Parts: sequence; C-alpha cells; structure tokens
Amino acid sequence: EPVLKVENLSKKYGDTLVWDQVNAQVMPGQVISIIGPSGAGKSTFLRCLNMLETPTSGKIFYHDQEVTQMKDKELQSLREHVGMVFQNFNLFANMSVSDNICLALKKVKGLDEAAAKDKALALLKQVGLADKADSYPSSLSGGQQQRVAIARSLAMDPEVILFDEPTSALDPEMVGDILKIMQELAEQGMTMVVVTHEMSFAKNVSDEIWFMADQQILEKGSPASFFQKP
Ligand code: ADP
Ligand code: ADP
Repeated sequence: EPVLKVENLSKKYGDTLVWDQVNAQVMPGQVISIIGPSGAGKSTFLRCLNMLETPTSGKIFYHDQEVTQMKDKELQSLREHVGMVFQNFNLFANMSVSDNICLALKKVKGLDEAAAKDKALALLKQVGLADKADSYPSSLSGGQQQRVAIARSLAMDPEVILFDEPTSALDPEMVGDILKIMQELAEQGMTMVVVTHEMSFAKNVSDEIWFMADQQILEKGSPASFFQKP
C-alpha cells in the first residue's frame, strides 16, 4: 500500500497552470528524487504533499486518508507523519539549537523538559552536532543549520520526510555532509521524497526518479534507466 498517493492532481496560480493531472505514488521505504528544470513546479508539488500549498484539483492520500479533505487539526497531525526539510532551514533564530528541537517535542509529543532535552541531544548526536546544543542558529554554518533542521524533523518520528532542495542554499563544502546524512536515513529505511539538483544523490541513493517538465511528471523510472539514456 502506498504511503502517499496523488490522483489527477493539478495546480494553478491564477491562470497559470503549474502542472496538470499528475498521478504518482510513494511506497514505504522508497526514496524518490524529483528532478527537472527550474520553474517546472517541483517545489510546489512537494509543498502540496503536506498541504503547505493547496492543489487546485485532484486528490492526495496519506495511506487511506484523503489529505485534500483534511481540516487544520488533521493537517497538523499529518505534518507530524509527513515531515519537511526546507532549502533555507526555517529554524527559530531566537532559540538555541536544543530548544528548536525541544519545542516540538514538548508541544506536539507532550514530553516533559528533561525527556525532551534527552531526545534532542540524542538527535543532535545522530547528525553530529551534540556539541552545538546551546548555540544559536546564527552562529552555525548553513550545513550545521540544515543538520539541526533534519534533527528537528526526525524528532516527530515521521513516516516520510519531504526535502525541498536541502543543499541548494549551502556552500559547496557543506553539501556532502547533508547528502551523507540523507543517505544514512535512506539506508535506515526512511521514506523520502527529495527535490534536488544533486545528480549523484538521484543516481546513487534514490530508488526512483521523477522528471518534472512540461506541466507534468514526464518520466518516472529507476536511476539505472535514467542514466543509461543516450
Ligand atoms: P521549481 O521548484 O521546479 O523550480 P516552483 O514550484 O518553485 O518550481 O514554481 C513553479 C512555477 O510556479 C514557477 O513559474 C513559479 O514562479 C510559480 N510559483 C511558485 N510559487 C508561486 C506563488 N506563490 N504564486 C504564484 N506563482 C508561483
Ligand atoms: P524555489 O523555486 O527555490 O522554491 P522560488 O524563488 O521559486 O523558490 O520561490 C520562493 C517563494 O516565492 C516561494 O514561497 C514561492 O511560492 C514564491 N513565488 C515564486 N514565484 C512566485 C510568483 N510568480 N508569484 C508569487 N510568489 C512566487
């Protein structure tokens, strides 16, 4: 059974059609890379999957639940299961690294202060930042901030994580760190949908590549089939 499924999904901004009648599904444990030219609607598609953007028509399902019918409260719960990592990290600047992660653990998961701190530290350790718990985001490199954002997303124990060009805002020397963490998550069986320009990731880590262009997903296939093309 697919974790996520879209049926005849279309998106318009005003009169402008971004993409039309898209059908796709994501199976448990699958890593999907969405590639394609700038402006093709990759980011918009990803943001529709957890309803940060509202599609114009069509349906989205998370398992058997219709996401496109959900009200605010259900959407909040959906976004715990379907996490997201953004290009620009979206950390709270006025909170320490640890508090950025603890906030959701306390508010959403209902952990007390001590348990939240413990879990936050374990997650920071997982992304190699245990020593930065008390730092503020602005004192970290972009790559470190993105690692915090990934740790914060993992704090919700998501079933799927959507990554929107997670390395595009980083200095080149930081890109490898983030791709490595993403590869580790993939190896641990995390279901991931990744909008990326990193062809090495698409080729070596993903199970399937979706090529978005001409207002549709023009092609879906294995990395092998994609990169063998003449
Ligand atoms: P990609 O991620 O493939 O670069 P986007 O999803 O960011 O593409 O954008 C797809 C198209 O939709 C672009 O033409 C973009 O300018 C337009 N677009 C994106 N967001 C909005 C918005 N909020 N309002 C109007 N047009 C938008
Ligand atoms: P990306 O392609 O990396 O997602 P963009 O630079 O296309 O980022 O868009 C940045 C923000 O501006 C997004 O929130 C997007 O929805 C919005 N946006 C993009 N294009 C338009 C547009 N033509 N009109 C209004 N908002 C837009």
